[in-house]
Amino acid sequence: MKNEIDNLVNGIEKDIEEILHEYIKTESFTNTGNEKEAEKFFVNFFSKIQYFKNTPGSYGLYKIEKDALDRNVFYAFLKGKGKDTVVLIHHSDIAGVEDFKLLKKYAFSPEELKTQLVKIKNTLSQDAKKDLDDDTFLFGRGICDMKGGGSIQIALIKRYSEMESFNGNIVLLAVPDEENLSSGMRAAVKLLSELQDRYGLKYRLMINSEPHQRKDDVTGIFSEGSVGKIMPFVYVRGYLAHAGKVFEGLNPIHVMSKIVSKTELNMDFSDLAGNEAAPPPTWLYFKDSKDQYDVSMPLSVKGCFSILTLNQTPQSILEKVKNICEESFDEVIDDMNNSFRRFAKATGLPLKYLQWQSKVVNFQELYREAAAAHGEEFIIEYNKKLDELAYKYENGASIIECNFDLLEFVYEYIDDIMPRIVYGLIPPYYPNVSNLFMNDLDEDVSSLSDNLIKYAREEFNQVYKTEYFYTGISDLSYSSIKKSREIYKALKESMPLLGHIYDVPVDIIEKISMPCINIGPWGKDFHKLTERVNKEDLYVRTPRIINKAISIILRN
Ligand SMILES: [Zn+2]
Repeated sequence: MKNEIDNLVNGIEKDIEEILHEYIKTESFTNTGNEKEAEKFFVNFFSKIQYFKNTPGSYGLYKIEKDALDRNVFYAFLKGKGKDTVVLIHHSDIAGVEDFKLLKKYAFSPEELKTQLVKIKNTLSQDAKKDLDDDTFLFGRGICDMKGGGSIQIALIKRYSEMESFNGNIVLLAVPDEENLSSGMRAAVKLLSELQDRYGLKYRLMINSEPHQRKDDVTGIFSEGSVGKIMPFVYVRGYLAHAGKVFEGLNPIHVMSKIVSKTELNMDFSDLAGNEAAPPPTWLYFKDSKDQYDVSMPLSVKGCFSILTLNQTPQSILEKVKNICEESFDEVIDDMNNSFRRFAKATGLPLKYLQWQSKVVNFQELYREAAAAHGEEFIIEYNKKLDELAYKYENGASIIECNFDLLEFVYEYIDDIMPRIVYGLIPPYYPNVSNLFMNDLDEDVSSLSDNLIKYAREEFNQVYKTEYFYTGISDLSYSSIKKSREIYKALKESMPLLGHIYDVPVDIIEKISMPCINIGPWGKDFHKLTERVNKEDLYVRTPRIINKAISIILRN
């Protein structure tokens, strides 16, 4: 048995190369109809493998509900002995090729692309130039992020399917939309739950094979978790006034700019684990309500920012956002009163406090206020609005626009026109996950990365390190969650689009929860013209390390 599993990967480099070259030709750009080309590739490829051809239900497409592009998750299920199961995931979508400019037509032909890049190598970074000269990396769109890792997984399951007898089970998932809202992975967890029920599977480990980036050239990285991502929004309703009568109004830009400066790059939002830290937040969107010029201040300002998390819940993030909104509002009122006192002194006006009071509510509170004032009529119109937005979203409106469109619709029913802040969350939501937070990890899982580090050193003389979090955001976020009920409740309170345009099945994720690891080839310049993957990793080392990991967990 031991020999069989080690010999199993003999000559696998040829398989990986063939699969990869065919796979990248699907040009499955994220969030486009082209993603379905990858589905065709999989079905065609697996229909030619003996085991899958002869085993009904062992591979196929799993529909993503209500998907405007009608995309599917591809799955292959290798049923061996026992209940222990390893899940291999990778995403089949790729970034666009805008920055390839005149080289677009070579983006999916690594050899030709190399020839072209050599011609312009002096315009490339030193590092890319060196990798071209040394010929140690393979260039091409999607080759690194992440069809290289995907091809390794496909090549491995093909080999496992040819074994006489295989211990445990493998589920391979190729999911679309990872670069966008992860609709593929959010659907795939439902499939995992169905397979779990049907076959009584015991999910032991989820392996993703996203490329890893290196801090230094000689140290590879395994990640035993993945950062979370959450996107709070803030909507500030001011009080309109002419620019000559500033104290009669309240400028929402004033409030919003305080909120932005208190949150942008604020390390208080960035949690720490060991010597890892989440990068601090940054604002992704910021607009006022003016669409033409006049001499009055804008009525409202809206924006949202992205927070990466290592160990925070939506509840704790929302609490922090609320506090910052309250603090900012109070400061603006103080600023205004101070300014007014100076103005009044200078002009002989009577001294008084301005009329402003701070008010901060979450989306659900705003909704309840509108419903209380306008009852059934509001609720009927609100539901119609949601349908209308779902249609707009399917036809290309951004999720951010849909969110604020809905908020402004609710505001039409609000009778209190005094300034206030409404805060909440915009999809997507990626939970933070890490084996670090899992209680009762099985011994073979908790010692896995140490064993792989030892293996890589002995077999390839390669140094590897383990980190608790993959910081590039990945679908591993959906491998486990705790206290899903409370999380869903918090999301429901604050994320207006949840359950309509967007959903995240946290209860199902909790049901299938399993530890995770990312084992992928060394890659560089993801999403750029010079995207590339290390050839030795792609063809030789990474497939063997993943094979080792699977054979440890499934005891082959
Ligand atoms: Zn990726």
